[in-house]
Amino acid sequence: MTRPIGGLRLAAALCIAALAGAPCLAGDVVLVEDASASAEIGTLVSGRDGATGLDFKDRAITGPAGRAIEVGDVHGGDTNRLLVFQKERAVAIEYPEWKVTDVEVRVKLSTEFGIPVCVWLVPGTTTPAFNRSVIAAAVMGTVWRDENAGLKLGTIRFGEIAKTDTSATPYVNFKCTKVGCREAENLRKAVGFTPAMVNIYFVDMVDYGAGMSRGNAVWCGDDTIVLGSMTTGTLLAHEFGHAAMLGHVDGMSCFDETNVMHSSSDTRAYLTEGQTFRMHADPASVISGEPYELRPGLPLVSCGDLPSAGCPELHKRIWTDCVTSVDCVCAP
Ligand SMILES: [Zn+2]
Repeated sequence: MTRPIGGLRLAAALCIAALAGAPCLAGDVVLVEDASASAEIGTLVSGRDGATGLDFKDRAITGPAGRAIEVGDVHGGDTNRLLVFQKERAVAIEYPEWKVTDVEVRVKLSTEFGIPVCVWLVPGTTTPAFNRSVIAAAVMGTVWRDENAGLKLGTIRFGEIAKTDTSATPYVNFKCTKVGCREAENLRKAVGFTPAMVNIYFVDMVDYGAGMSRGNAVWCGDDTIVLGSMTTGTLLAHEFGHAAMLGHVDGMSCFDETNVMHSSSDTRAYLTEGQTFRMHADPASVISGEPYELRPGLPLVSCGDLPSAGCPELHKRIWTDCVTSVDCVCAP
């Protein structure tokens, strides 16, 4: 339920709260509208600390939905930014004018984005693909929901291919070693392609440059993902991460194989808020860019994996998954 809080009404509420013995709000506050009523709100705040005079970046502060979130005494600094995350909501990016005096920053959240996909069960595959394609898509949606990615699975459309059509036979074992490869173009022509969404092709084996395997999958660019017959839904979430401009996290100090973007893992599960930010904000991501273009008119930022002024660090977390020592060491 939405509960917008007006400035005057807020001040009156503070007095009542104080009389009742509850703590008063102090410092700068964030007022979040259209939040989900059932989940905590997480913010990453950047500005200058009013007490120390030092700049800070991406301080993680959480609060319950429906109440103002106190973010401390924030002044204008080199980076003035407010990022808001919540389950079932898209990431919000604001650039507040923090001042010496206290300010209220209003942020309106959007409902999480529905992502339709088109699934192609390539004729000639030896393993029945319908069930695993549905399961894979559902698992990807579950990862998004659990990790507050601001995305949910939309309509699954199945491309129509005649079972007797042999034109796709050469692609049952699919080789594509780079984004934009000719073989992906040939696959789309032979099997079919639905514009304006990511197309997912289920085949027997995939070779992305390390040899054919049923457990391989590849993001080919141009809205094309190809999955081998022994792949899992978390690998589909991984390939979609590439489509949303995420790179591999192998060997990075704050990541291990439990992250969705590890290149070789059976335990992918987690996304950081730094990764979620990039998926939404990067202009080349399928979310903000083609084909979905779900954030028209909203701020876009191209980050890459390395620290940059315009972005939280890739490993930045608000909610620590904390199943491994690596994750806990890098907790905010
Ligand atoms: Zn990968």
